[in-house]
Amino acid sequence: TVSMTRTGKFFISILVNQDEEKWIPAENKVGIDLGLKHFAVMTNDAMVSEKIDNPRLIRKSEAKVKKAQRALSRKKIGSKNREKAKLLLAKKHEKIANQRQDFLHKLSRRIVDENQVIVVETLKSKDMMKNHKVAKSIGDVSWYEFVRQLEYKCTFYGRTLIKADPWYASTQICSTCGVKGEKKTMDVREWTCTHCGEYYDRDINASLNLLMLAD
Ligand SMILES: [Zn+2]
Repeated sequence: TVSMTRTGKFFISILVNQDEEKWIPAENKVGIDLGLKHFAVMTNDAMVSEKIDNPRLIRKSEAKVKKAQRALSRKKIGSKNREKAKLLLAKKHEKIANQRQDFLHKLSRRIVDENQVIVVETLKSKDMMKNHKVAKSIGDVSWYEFVRQLEYKCTFYGRTLIKADPWYASTQICSTCGVKGEKKTMDVREWTCTHCGEYYDRDINASLNLLMLAD
């Protein structure tokens, strides 16, 4: 199938039959907390934590999209310049979508390669968006797409994906003593458990709680 995007790029898709992928053994488990401060914070069963930032390239492209949107809004309706500005905006959108897909595919593939059991939170992102009015561009779309990729790659490579209940209080529960503390607003990045005194990075604690669902 040959197709063309609005920006004039041609794509050819080819359908093939393929033998099943070779089984790659992995024995690790990982809990993944999705967020805004970092794209993802992961802790595996060797207690190694990793924070994955939203790539700087994507943030740069987001700024360019905004600039192109402003430029378009200043052009007269029906004018040639408006058409040009529209095309430019479409190009910027295309670029950012490609960068995001590249980032998500590489990350999801690595996680699936390295782990046998993967626990990810299901998304409360819509509420987060409403409540906090944070940059829409980095949220929703990427998280849904990321979980979608994890899901099919897990099926493909014989891994287990566990989606935590959206009401699972991964941020509130202390991963050391299990006591559920009070709700924490988005700006609380670190806290101390009032029950056992353990000191936490918010997102690492959440990923630890998610990791516990792997057993
Ligand atoms: Zn505690």
